[in-house]
Formats: sequence, C-alpha cells, structure tokens
Amino acid sequence: MSEKNILPEGIGEQTKAVHAGESPDPVTRASAPNIVMSTTYAVDADTGFSVEGLEADTPWIYTRWGNPTISQLEEKLAALENAESAVAFASGMSAISSLLLHFLKAGSHAVVSDVAYAALSEMTNEMLPALGIEITKVNTSDIEAVRAALRPNTRLVYIETPCNPLLRLTDIEAVAKIAHEAGAKLAVDSTFATPAATRPTELGADFVIHSLTKYLGGHGDALGGAIIGRKADLAPLRKKTSIRLGGTISPFNAWLIMRGIATFPLRMKAHEENALKIAVWLEQHPKVTRVVYPGLISHPQHELALKQMRNFSGIITFQTADGRATSRKLAEKLKIIHYAVSLGHHRSLIFYLNTEDLLKTTFRFDTPAQLASWREFAGDGIFRFSVGLEDADDIIADLEQAL
Ligand SMILES: *Cc1c(COP(=O)(O)O)cnc(C)c1O
Repeated sequence: MSEKNILPEGIGEQTKAVHAGESPDPVTRASAPNIVMSTTYAVDADTGFSVEGLEADTPWIYTRWGNPTISQLEEKLAALENAESAVAFASGMSAISSLLLHFLKAGSHAVVSDVAYAALSEMTNEMLPALGIEITKVNTSDIEAVRAALRPNTRLVYIETPCNPLLRLTDIEAVAKIAHEAGAKLAVDSTFATPAATRPTELGADFVIHSLTKYLGGHGDALGGAIIGRKADLAPLRKKTSIRLGGTISPFNAWLIMRGIATFPLRMKAHEENALKIAVWLEQHPKVTRVVYPGLISHPQHELALKQMRNFSGIITFQTADGRATSRKLAEKLKIIHYAVSLGHHRSLIFYLNTEDLLKTTFRFDTPAQLASWREFAGDGIFRFSVGLEDADDIIADLEQAL
C-alpha cells in the first residue's frame, strides 16, 4: 500500500517526524497517508490462519495482526527512538499491561518504580501479585535501592523518568547497567520525556513505552500507546499480546497520532520554552510554596536532567499552602487553562493531586525513606501543570487572576 520509504542516513529528528514511515501512495500518488480502516484483506487461498506463521513480510490478513496505517505509525515511532521496531497499542496502559503480561509469569519477579503512572502502580499492587508474580517497589532514583531489590528470578526492571506525577528522575544508564548484570531487562516509560528529550534505548534500555495520548499525539483527541525496542524482542511480543490480548489501536487514531507527530519536535521546543518561563514566574509567586521542574536549578536532580534530557518537556508541579482550597479556586476561575487530567496537549491542563488520597488508593511505600522522597517532591499535594502552547503571557495572566 505504501512504498517502502528509505530515508537518507543521519537525517534530523524533525525530518524523521515528518517523513519516517510515510511515502506517496503508489496507486494514487497521494502525498498524505491514507487511512486504511479495513479490518480484513482479500488473500490467497493458501494463506495460513495461524499467527505462528506471521512474519514481517506476510501480506495483510486481519487488522488485529497488522494494518498499513498502524504500520506507518510504528515505523515513525521506531525512527524517532533510533530503535529497530515498535508495536502500537490502543492506549498507553494497553502497551504497559501487554509488556508486563508478556514478560512476567508466576514465580518471576519485577522491580518497579514506587512512583509511576497510577494505573500501572495499581496493577502492580494487586493484579500481578494475584497471578503469582512477585513485585518489589523501590525509589528507582536510588541506584543502591534498585541493586538491593534484584533477585535471581528478576526478569524486568520497570522505571518512569521523569515520573508521573513527581517529576523525579531516574538515571537510565546506571539502572540499565545493574539490571543487565542481574540478567534482567529494563523498560522505561518515557511518556514525560519524549524522544525529543531522551532516547532510552541509546542509554541501554531494552524497551521504551509511550502513552501516545500525551505529547506524541499532542492534541488530546486520540488514545494510543507503544512499545519500542529490538525486532527480536518485539516480534514475539506482537504475537503473544497485540494479537492475543487484542489491544489494537484504531487505524483512525494511528493516523491522527501520526499527523500529530509531524510537528512533535517543534511543539516540544515551544512546550519547554513556555514551561521554563512559567516555572520561573511561579517560583517568585507569594502563594506558591514549591515548584518542581527539571529545567530549574532548584530541581533536586537538575544535574541528572542536564545529563539525560535534551529538552525539559512541558510539565511543572507546584504546591500552595492549602492545595484543596486553591484547586477549587482554579477549577472555578481559570479562563484559558483547563482544570483537567491528562497532559502533553496543545492546551494547558492543570489538576490537583492530593497526597493522602494517592497514598490510600495507589502508591504504597515499604520504607520511611520512600515516603520521605515522596514528601520531598510532593508535600501534602501537588498541582500537575501541563503547560500548553498558548502564549506564555496569557497562561501567566490566567494563573495570576485565578490564584
Ligand atoms: C497517561 C500515561 C500513561 C497511560 O497512558 P494512556 O494512553 O492513558 O493509557 C502511562 N504512563 C504515563 C507516564 C502517562 O502519563
């Protein structure tokens, strides 16, 4: 359906974002990609009906097994991460749950960041242990804690950097080294960083996870997720999870996300520029008691941010004296910024996360040091502020009048 697009070696990120995975349609010469919504394909009589026979060059058979539009998105994602291969999913959580269910079985062990995306944390609290999978949660910013948690049956180390919602960082290179020494693979949820900041496979990670719903899609109108890594790892994962668990992304969403990705490196520059300006403004605001942003020298791990992130992304957290009361004021008074969950959209989004609630429902800490680290970043609660692409002065004015 599309000719194989062989791009010149060494092209830049923005060129990849525009062209990777795409090429003019060989029949119509259409320049923009088609959306192929078909769920099935006319095939030869001797086509096999088992996924076991599925190879990279097998013709299209059924969209849960593969689809031209979804393949274009996968090729673009792999190119952006400088990796061999990508598998797209219906959502970030579909990608995460597929990776965990593919890798872990009864009796195997995983080390997971004690603060990571809420649904993943909740999954590792109950669902996975109920299947006989052993989970140890540690503050993965503490390399010695990761090392101490590794066991002979550890198959996977799972981190998120910067982590949602704390914006605490983990040193990917250091964790990759000790995970591999222990015979485990490393998965990195890089949704907050994006490939504009960090390409985890170049630092030793085996798998990169993205919620495409956030910065890569970028417009808040399509759920999607992806796992990116080596061909040899992802081909069996595709058979076992994408095909059998069935979390296939809609070709329409794949197309929307691909269109979003075309401007993704440009948007990340603008997100970062706005976020830095607003973080500095928030730091001097009398009602704001604490601001956390990897691009600020006040971030406890700013050195690591400089080493590992080429772009500080667009998410800020901040605290006020009475977070609950402030959240009500913001929800009522903001005119431009939406008081809403999610992040990475062109629209600014803000949402209050209360520490007490999250510790009840989602995050569990085994040691006082883990709780202390949470408090260091989040106090009694934080505003997670996804700075959008509006004019920075307008965002600041909106916050000023509402605070
Ligand atoms: C949103 C998010 C997810 C989940 O993605 P969905 O597309 O909502 O399923 C996973 N990880 C991080 C860091 C996220 O922010």
